[in-house]
Amino acid sequence: MDYLPFTRPTLDEATIQGVVEVLQSGWLSSGPKVKEFEAALSEYFGGRPVRTFNSGTATLEVALQLCGVGPGDEVITTPMSWVATANVVLHVGARPVFVDVNPVTRNIDVDRIEAAITPRTKAIIPVDLAGLPVDRDRLYAIAEKHHLRVIEDAAQSMGATWQDRRIGSFGDLISFSFHANKNMTTGEGGCLVLSDEAQIPLAEKLRLQGVVRSPDGGMDVDVAGGKYNLTDIAARIGLGQLKRVDAFNARRRELVKHYFACFDRSLGCELPLEDFSDSNWHMFQVLLPLDRIRIGRGEFIEAMKQRGIGVGVHYPSIHLFTLFRSMGFKEGDFPHAEKIGRETVTLPLFPAMELADVERVCAAVKDIIEAARK
Ligand SMILES: *Cc1c(COP(=O)(O)O)cnc(C)c1O
Repeated sequence: MDYLPFTRPTLDEATIQGVVEVLQSGWLSSGPKVKEFEAALSEYFGGRPVRTFNSGTATLEVALQLCGVGPGDEVITTPMSWVATANVVLHVGARPVFVDVNPVTRNIDVDRIEAAITPRTKAIIPVDLAGLPVDRDRLYAIAEKHHLRVIEDAAQSMGATWQDRRIGSFGDLISFSFHANKNMTTGEGGCLVLSDEAQIPLAEKLRLQGVVRSPDGGMDVDVAGGKYNLTDIAARIGLGQLKRVDAFNARRRELVKHYFACFDRSLGCELPLEDFSDSNWHMFQVLLPLDRIRIGRGEFIEAMKQRGIGVGVHYPSIHLFTLFRSMGFKEGDFPHAEKIGRETVTLPLFPAMELADVERVCAAVKDIIEAARK
């Protein structure tokens, strides 16, 4: 039987041909395709200004810089995310302040945010884990009350909505990633949705070495920008993907509905929140009943691999990484995130999957867990 990875991008012939044309055009770096992609993204996000970057990490870092976050500042975020979310805070010299997650949504527990705010707090970075949006109404109410900026790490929630409004079409600064595993990809890449045209010049400077060109052919630099521009090759992939992302997400929803229908609830796995209104179902993650089986997560993953099924882990809680422990974080700080970090596994989910693949995954999980019961 074919190996079923936990995710795989869907690229069509027209996109592949379009990339060939870019390669033949002689213009490989940021050029006309980047401009076209940014215009298409802006339209997708209801007309807001959008700039592309070469990763979703770069977009977050530039967003922090646009908010003036730096040494001495604190940024509130979740420990249950890809480590990029916290690393960017360190990169600008600020301190990440983690707030534990809600065990049901697995997202930052909005009820606990206010207790973490100090006079040094400058911004909040909410993460829509697996594409399930954080409650934007309550989040922005807190941000406004305490005069905080919000940088939405929407790396996983492209095409998701909050109460019928598309993520990225409202709010402060919204950051997306187009990494190959995300719901739409450019290979590597990302985009930042701005709230005001006035933010564009600084965003563009921070993206490319701080350079501003003058009409006489010269240039000036007044800020040490990075090297974060997207290539036209990547932008062309993105143009092909953007056309299909809503259809991809609809297919993900169908597959997830089948997961919920087929998954044997008696196994004791904790399933994700059954949300079919807002989530884009970037991932389907279950928590293993590790206290009720004789095998560990590593053995479960290996047993799935033996059956030709790829399983991911997203994510170990960030605060328990050596780097963050060295800053004083420790076991017991965020019990909900720690439990998820220990037990979570990401089962296969991508648009090209068949319903039969979902059934195969559910059968394999059942087989392995039943054989390992204490
Ligand atoms: C993927 C991801 C990022 C980083 O995006 P890259 O494009 O890989 O740099 C940041 N935050 C979250 C939550 C992500 O899933």
